[in-house]
Amino acid sequence: MTTPVTPSFPSRLPKVGTTIFTVMSALATEHSAINLGQGFPDFPCDRTLINNVNEAMLADRNQYPPMIGVTELRHGISQKIQNLYGHHYDADAEITITAGGTQGILTSILACVSPGDEVIIIEPAYDSYRPAIDLAVGKTIGISLDVKRDAAGQVTSYEIPWDALAKAISEKTRLIIINSPHNPTGMVWEKADLDRLADLLRNTAILVLSDEVYEHMVYDGAQHHSVASHPELAARSFLISSFGKTYHVTGWKVGYVAAPTALTKEFRKVHQFNVFTVNTPMQYGLASYLSNAEHYLNLPAFYQAKRDFFKAGLSKTKFKLLPTPGTYFQCVDYSSLNIPQAKLNEADFCKWLTSEVGVAAIPVSAFYENSTESGVIRFCFAKQEETLTRALQRLQTI
Ligand code: PMP
Repeated sequence: MTTPVTPSFPSRLPKVGTTIFTVMSALATEHSAINLGQGFPDFPCDRTLINNVNEAMLADRNQYPPMIGVTELRHGISQKIQNLYGHHYDADAEITITAGGTQGILTSILACVSPGDEVIIIEPAYDSYRPAIDLAVGKTIGISLDVKRDAAGQVTSYEIPWDALAKAISEKTRLIIINSPHNPTGMVWEKADLDRLADLLRNTAILVLSDEVYEHMVYDGAQHHSVASHPELAARSFLISSFGKTYHVTGWKVGYVAAPTALTKEFRKVHQFNVFTVNTPMQYGLASYLSNAEHYLNLPAFYQAKRDFFKAGLSKTKFKLLPTPGTYFQCVDYSSLNIPQAKLNEADFCKWLTSEVGVAAIPVSAFYENSTESGVIRFCFAKQEETLTRALQRLQTI
């Protein structure tokens, strides 16, 4: 008998290989490094939330929920958006529960991007956007955030590249993906930025995918400016959010997409044959938890304390700290460290930091298609104070 052979076929995603996230996490384990690379909390979620889910399971809420999501959860989300951003999404026609933000992003893209359509993304960008556009056989038009530097050449901030964005728009543009608060840089969009985007898109048929999974992590008393707070943009946007980030349950993978009826109708056609539904007890548990607004209203203060603690410790190192108005990521410029490794590219610097200093971080270059180097790396501060303290002690030795 001849040996059975697996037939070969052309990859749908030929450029996707092992990501730097996998590489860094493996390296962190190998060297027992403190993992400030991957973005997830190392502390438990609220027991109330777990009890809510347990109660739903014990109440035998374990069969398929409605395709669009559990009614109580959709209504809770509609109420939350109304309270925070002043826009009414109809819970039945305009809100769909998804298997995390990632599925919401993929499904939105598959629902509206046809072969050859152009989708503009702004790099550094979350790594699921490009492959999702590829799967839709769309064409990614990548532009880059403007990188502002001081006189010494160190990065001070990232800004929206308005000129490049205006130039990137063409007859073929179907969709623009925006992300605020932004992973990896922590930058946030202001109201004036939403106005400017609306000006650019007025009289076009261009849709917007607004990735707002960090919506409840905005600091120093500032407000998150959601596309939902901007009627003109809301009318052309898929708004993506995720309970994983907000309630410290990244492993549950439950999120939602809010979008006008016409967009939701197309979204659900794909969703139905993509996941069909999202697990029932988690949805009931989240619905009860969401009814107490304090659970998300307290989040900025909770993470701001972590950010400030981490920043205070980092200020005793030679890293140059970038502003962190949002997210649970702190970026630092390492290019002026007085060590030979300061000349390494970002990925190699992170590998050195992990294996020799014992702290894992993520190179910001990993969020660019062409690995643009800025001498900046990203730490995640969604960690217990004890973890951050140990990491800071190590970082302070550099
Ligand atoms: N968008 C951004 C910008 C993210 O950082 C993440 C999670 N890392 C997601 C979307 C996906 O969220 P989820 O885990 O709910 O799929």
